[in-house]
Amino acid sequence: MKDATKALRGGRDSKAQFGAVNPPVVRASTYLFEGYDGLQEAERALPGEALTYGTHATPTSLALERALRDLEGGFRTRLQPSGLMAMTAPLLSFLSAGDHLLMTDSAYGPTRAFCQGTLKRFGVETTFYDPLIGGGIRDLIRPNTKVVFCESPGSWTFEVQDVPAIAEEAHKAGAVVMLDNTWASPLFFKPFAHGVDLCLAALTKYVGGHADLLMGSVSCVESVYPTYRRGQRELGLAVSPDDCALALRGLRTLSVRMKAHEAAGLALADWLMGRPEIAQILHPGMPHDPGHRIWRRDFLGASGLFGAILREDLSSEAHIRALLDGLELFGVGYSWGGFESLILPVDPVGARSATVWPREGRAKGRLLRLHAGLEDLEDLKADLAAGFARMARI
Ligand SMILES: *Cc1c(COP(=O)(O)O)cnc(C)c1O
Repeated sequence: MKDATKALRGGRDSKAQFGAVNPPVVRASTYLFEGYDGLQEAERALPGEALTYGTHATPTSLALERALRDLEGGFRTRLQPSGLMAMTAPLLSFLSAGDHLLMTDSAYGPTRAFCQGTLKRFGVETTFYDPLIGGGIRDLIRPNTKVVFCESPGSWTFEVQDVPAIAEEAHKAGAVVMLDNTWASPLFFKPFAHGVDLCLAALTKYVGGHADLLMGSVSCVESVYPTYRRGQRELGLAVSPDDCALALRGLRTLSVRMKAHEAAGLALADWLMGRPEIAQILHPGMPHDPGHRIWRRDFLGASGLFGAILREDLSSEAHIRALLDGLELFGVGYSWGGFESLILPVDPVGARSATVWPREGRAKGRLLRLHAGLEDLEDLKADLAAGFARMARI
């Protein structure tokens, strides 16, 4: 089956669902076993693989986990209560005091904060590396390097990583490769075909797709699953079956939405590139982008999230305020991946340590992050054009 079909069929079991199209929401903490023998059997079952207790699984969470696993092609998928927890729980599961972590300098801000806070307190040392390092990562690997963490492209600065080259070096040294795959979604990047061991994602974004869900997923290859499963169980991480049903609903339309976000993102980026107010567009799906070659080699599509750098002389606070205040369609807000368009000024300068921003070849002005939603493209352009007109009056 192709991805679009898998996204529709995954996790459904008509008989177990009383013939209903959608998996029912089953709310459960306790499952009752068939006497002593049933209890014995439950105790032999691995947590998360059978219906033994609500924190481990419900029929609804299992349906979502199976659907995601089928799409991503991993061995198992487990759910997390937020996207951030999908980043932090695997790190906690694989790292111990005295270990060393290699983290991309373009990482999602709260992932970086977790390394500098909790992991540091627990005696794990993090080295941030240039996301464009590729096979050069070998020079940073130490005997105690246990995890190499990638995020491609970074959700602020959009550097595309050479994940296969990084994974090859990491594996030679016996380190585990984790990747934040939120930008591409399970449809546009296949982590396990590119050397990733654990694929981490915020379902909050594209899988949820409607700005009303918080959830994360961790999918992995078989060899690392036991370690991950132990961490998940010890931390007591569980998700609500109601939220699983929302995520499943989002998943069914993911392939049409992703195609629409991709087309809208490329069209908006192209239009913005022609605007005199914009110095540079950061979008790996566009041929001018430095990440385009690797993106074309490794990705199956682009999501709707990209960057636009304003001309330096139009980057003052007053200009940004003029642009944002009065926008009718573009929401000003965090997160992305919903049906709505968003715009957010971001400042990577203080959020990097291995590299400086703007890096070579990147323009100096204020960086805007845009999420192309599913509104009519002409309406979106008119909304931004009106914002540019307000800027011109400053
Ligand atoms: C949003 C996001 C997360 C975290 O997801 P939450 O559900 O908001 O916790 C992690 N990584 C990336 C790249 C994100 O954009």
